[in-house]
Amino acid sequence: MAEINLDWPNIGFAYRETPVRFVSDFVDGKWDEGRFSTDSNVTINESAGVLQYAQTCFEGLKAYRTEKGDIVCFRPDLNAARMAESCKRLCMPVFPVDRFIKAVVETVKRNADYVPPYGSGATLYVRPYMFATSPVLGVKPAVNYQFRIFVSPVGPYFKGGAKPVSIMVSDFDRAAPHGTGHVKAGLNYAMSLFAIEHAHELGFNENMYLDAATRTYVEETGGANFIFVTKDGKIVTPKSGTILPSITRRSLIYVAQNILKMDAEERPIPFEEVKTFAEAGLCGTAAVISPVGRVTYEGGVINFPSGMEKMGPVLQKLYDTLTGIQMGRIEGPEGWIVKVC
Ligand SMILES: *Cc1c(COP(=O)(O)O)cnc(C)c1O
Repeated sequence: MAEINLDWPNIGFAYRETPVRFVSDFVDGKWDEGRFSTDSNVTINESAGVLQYAQTCFEGLKAYRTEKGDIVCFRPDLNAARMAESCKRLCMPVFPVDRFIKAVVETVKRNADYVPPYGSGATLYVRPYMFATSPVLGVKPAVNYQFRIFVSPVGPYFKGGAKPVSIMVSDFDRAAPHGTGHVKAGLNYAMSLFAIEHAHELGFNENMYLDAATRTYVEETGGANFIFVTKDGKIVTPKSGTILPSITRRSLIYVAQNILKMDAEERPIPFEEVKTFAEAGLCGTAAVISPVGRVTYEGGVINFPSGMEKMGPVLQKLYDTLTGIQMGRIEGPEGWIVKVC
């Protein structure tokens, strides 16, 4: 059991400082051996690449307390691989996959008291990230970088937990057609904040982005992918080169096809088709699966009656299976669960 006693069901999704973080520096063309630090502040040069040209990217995964009391992580190898892709796209050095996984495990272990208890509804969010530390003025990649991992206990991403989320479709685009939409980086988030704030002001929880090139296909929200269920019970999720390849979404498709023996496909989804779906949800590490109750767009409103009070039955089955694997109630596919301690 966790020694730290917080009001777990009500902690919300917010930064909460924990004792230990991992820090490694890229200097002279290589990563140092790394260290664990109790200092939560970062001191960098005023002209550091991250401050001037936004050379930074991040990852997000969770550590879970299982039914048996173990602490585990979910598929950290995929976060390591995705971060490597983000780094390459932003001209940053890759932090090796094996070292990434080891550093995640060690950082979680050193903050084990902050992993919320099984069944509390809270989990430990793990945030690996990298940024350019050395000064730049001309537009070019920096020379030195820092890779860090901190952890923070979190509750559900959306207030009210499994309550339906209402979404608006605005004129804002999340990413340029051939830009960095597939990269998990602050630059995309910075560009999405205005749309999210706009949606909040109008009383919606989130904004649905359409593809910037034609504005006809469903993309994603600021921080989660979409997953839909057709009237005949098939799972569908958008395929696009300009959305973030969600590990949750990929895992859900695998679970649907291989464990629940359901039909599941990834394909372009015209916005026109959304009104024909039986269920809609947002998926991601933070959102897990959050049901969408309503989508409001210029031409009208789409309601998902199945998800107005809670999650629809098909998404609920997917949710129960995925979280069952993460919390150790269900045996997952090989390699999905990495034991911390
Ligand atoms: C992190 C993220 C997601 C969710 O990905 P997961 O790997 O499932 O956590 C979706 N969209 C964006 C833009 C993201 O940054």
